[in-house]
Formats: sequence, structure tokens, C-alpha cells
Amino acid sequence: MQRAVVVGGGVAGLAAARDLADAGCDVLLLEATDRAGGKLRRGEVAGVTVDVGAEAMIHRRPEGVDLARELGLPIVHPTGATSRVWTRGALRRLPRTLMGAPLDLEELEETGILGEEGMVRARHQLLPQPDDDASVGELVATRFGDEVVDRLVEPLLGGVYAGQARHISATAAVPQLVDLIARPEFVLPPAPADAAPVFAGVDGGMWRLAEALEADLHGRPGVEVRHGATVTAIRRTNGGFAVGTSDGEETAELLVVATPAPPAARLLSDVAPAAADELLQVCYASVALVTLAFRADDGGVREALDVGASGFLVPPVDGRQVKASTFSFAKWAWVRAAGEEQGLLVLRTSLGRFGEQATLQVPDDQLVQASLADLAAATGLTATPVDAVVQRWGGGLPQYWVGHLDRVARVRAAVARVPGLAVCGAAYDGVGVPATIGSAHRAVAELLGARSS
Ligand SMILES: Cc1cc2nc3c(=O)[nH]c(=O)nc-3n(C[C@H](O)[C@H](O)[C@H](O)COP(=O)(O)OP(=O)(O)OC[C@H]3O[C@@H](n4cnc5c(N)ncnc54)[C@H](O)[C@@H]3O)c2cc1C
Repeated sequence: MQRAVVVGGGVAGLAAARDLADAGCDVLLLEATDRAGGKLRRGEVAGVTVDVGAEAMIHRRPEGVDLARELGLPIVHPTGATSRVWTRGALRRLPRTLMGAPLDLEELEETGILGEEGMVRARHQLLPQPDDDASVGELVATRFGDEVVDRLVEPLLGGVYAGQARHISATAAVPQLVDLIARPEFVLPPAPADAAPVFAGVDGGMWRLAEALEADLHGRPGVEVRHGATVTAIRRTNGGFAVGTSDGEETAELLVVATPAPPAARLLSDVAPAAADELLQVCYASVALVTLAFRADDGGVREALDVGASGFLVPPVDGRQVKASTFSFAKWAWVRAAGEEQGLLVLRTSLGRFGEQATLQVPDDQLVQASLADLAAATGLTATPVDAVVQRWGGGLPQYWVGHLDRVARVRAAVARVPGLAVCGAAYDGVGVPATIGSAHRAVAELLGARSS
């Protein structure tokens, strides 16, 4: 039986460990912190258990929902409540877009998101020249103008990457946009009547996916998940790898490095230096989530918050502190039900974009106050929350800048030259949970494929 070590117990590492165990390997998963799950994490606000990391997954990509179903978790979908854009002094309806690129200019005009000049430019569409790899911002600005990028693309892309539209690669982040943006008609094919919902979640929270994965691993012979085990160095040996940890050394024939790019770069510097050099170039954005619980019957709370929206996005040009707020009680039936038992409405704000680390380097209560000030200005909410929880995600989101796909190809080529080694996680094939799980499946398939060939 082959012995495999997986470094990092986020959803990628957990999924890779499961695939390796399914293939009959002995598996040791080494996780630096005292819990597995990485950015899938539960927290408690006023006694209500909620996600304080990822809260949803794209349904179209099957890896997330498939894995959740295999683990017996109930899949749910967001309610029909839609998000607003808080810009130019009002909460405005979000028109139909492809990651901020408008699909209907009449509808866009009705929302009032753009000023008059911005609207004139959006109508004066110019077709971008084909480019091997342009940024999302560049492509959309060429076609629809800068204001569409500033007030629509930035907040939508910021919600996923906490990044800047004029840096993020369209090919890596929104490949569908690359196909459509240079066509005379900017339209999406109509969705079939029985189209599945775009997003899914797990009833009770996405954190359950990580906990169920770990529980599944614990139940298997020959599999160990070790917490508090930071991997400090990796070197090659005759039969595979020596893996140095905070409290000793492990050996492995197969090794999967499933950490974010900065630690992966450090760990691979000896065994795959070319991959390490590339991984060092991947930048990360830090973000913080502030989860707030309000008493539903406090004066004005329902009137301000319970208005049928699932929250709002904030364009950076508007100069606010929060970049988005998710009214979790309105977006997820399970959050509403869990809060209602205690007469609470639970929501969260998110702060921090790439390059704005300084705004997060303040005490927790300042992040709470900043969130309350923006919520008050956006919705008129004046109530004091009964509880607030701040979860920081320093270096939380990799930035898929122009050139990212080529960089990932070079990383994979360098890693493939080392027999028995593979990498996976959010730095490679997409930052979303399903893509991250997909990268784990791919890493293990490549390892096992190489072993049998
Ligand atoms: C605030 C936030 C909200 C998000 N919301 C969503 C969402 O709603 N939907 C969605 O699809 N995606 C979302 N994402 C993205 C998604 O959650 C992540 O990209 C994904 O969970 C990353 O999984 P991972 O396993 O690659 O990495 P991580 O979750 O970062 O896990 C890596 C693990 O490696 C461990 N580690 C690091 N170094 C070492 C070492 N030397 N030795 C041992 N262990 C080590 C870490 O402790 C960590 O547990 C969100 C991300 C953030 C930050």
C-alpha cells in the first residue's frame, strides 16, 4: 500500500485525502491549525451557528454539490431575493450582467447605476480587439466604458476575488466574457426553462462540508488527519519525500501540497524550485467578514433590512468602507429559521480588497463600527446589534491576474517533473469551492495516472 501525505486541510486537501484513500493509499493529512476546513469555517453570533468563511458554491460546476451529496449533506439554494448595488447615493437594482458587463442597456439605464455620461458611453459600444489575455476591466471598458467597470464590474468581481478588475485576467476569471465581448451582439443564450439554480449551499452552512469530509476520513483505516502539524520543509528521498513538520518528520511516496501559494512556494523551494518561483508571484487579497445579529423587533430593523433584498454590493469608487453586505437571513432560509428561533436577523458585511490591507489593520470593534456606519447610510438602520463577530482572512483570496493560466501551466509542468508530487487548491483552477475541489480531484488523478503508467 502506498503512503501519501497531504499538506493542508482546507477543502482541497480534504478532498485530495479522500480521493487518495478511495484509491487504497494510506493517507496522512497534515494541517497547521487546530482545525481542518480552511476557509470553510463555522462561527457563532448570538448563539446562531453560521458560516464565517465561504457561504455558497456555484451549482453549475458539479464538484461541490456532488461531494456534498456523497457525504449525505442536504443541498439548498438561495431564496429568490436579489442583491442591490449601493452607488450614487441609493440602493439600486442589479441589472442582468455577465460579471458586470450589462446584458440589457435599457434595464441598466432604469437602475440609475450609471450617470448620464456613463450611459452614453455604454451605448456607444466599441468592440475590443482579440487579445491573448486581457484583464476583465480592460475588455469591458473598451466595449462599455470605464463607468460600467467602476460601478458594476468592480463590485461583482470584488465579491469573488476581492481584487481589481483592471488586473484580473478575463481568460482565467470569466472565460465566457472573452467569447462574447467581441461579438456584435452581447447576449447570453437563453437559459432552459428547467435550468438549475446558479448557486447552492449546504443546509446549516458550508462549514458542514469540511466537517463531513473530515469525519469521513476519520472513519477509514490507514487514514489520519493531524491538526497542529505545520509542514516546514520537504525534501526528496530515494523512495519519495521526507516531510518535516513542527514535531518530527514523515515519509511519503506520494505528496500533495494543498496550501495557498505562499506556503506552497516555501515548501517546494527544494523539490520543485521552478514551481516555487512561479507561486511566489501569485498575490493575495486580505478580507474581513463582520457577522451581525439584530433583534428583529427592535424599532426600525425590519423596515430597514427586511425589504426583499439579499444584500448589496458597493463599488470602490463610492469610497465606502464595506465592499458588500449579505443579508444572510434573506438569502438563506436556514439562516432565517435559525435566527427566528431567537427573534434575530443575521447578516454580514465584508471589507477589504487587494491593496487595501491598511483598512483592515484596526481593532475588531472599528471594523464593526465601520460596518454599522455604512449599513446605516445605505439602509437607514440605526439599531445596535446584539452581537458581532469579526473573522479575518489575511491573504484569503488569490488574485488571478493577467498571465495566471500560463503561470499555473508552468507550475504544473515543474511539479510534473517530480515523480509522486502534485499541487492543488484555490491558487490554480478557480477560487470557488467547486473549482478547488476539482483541482484536488485532478491532482490525485494525475498522481495515480502517473503511478499506473
Ligand atoms: C471570506 C471568503 C469568502 C469566500 N466565499 C466563498 C463562497 O461563498 N463560495 C465559494 O465558492 N468560495 C468562496 N471563497 C473561496 C473559497 O472558500 C476558498 O478558495 C477555498 O475554500 C480554498 O480552499 P483551499 O483548500 O484551497 O485552501 P484553504 O481553505 O486556504 O486551506 C489551506 C489549508 O492549508 C493549511 N496550511 C497552510 N500552510 C500549511 C503548512 N505549512 N502546513 C500544514 N498546513 C498548512 C491552512 O491552515 C489551511 O487550513 C471565499 C473565500 C474567502 C476568504
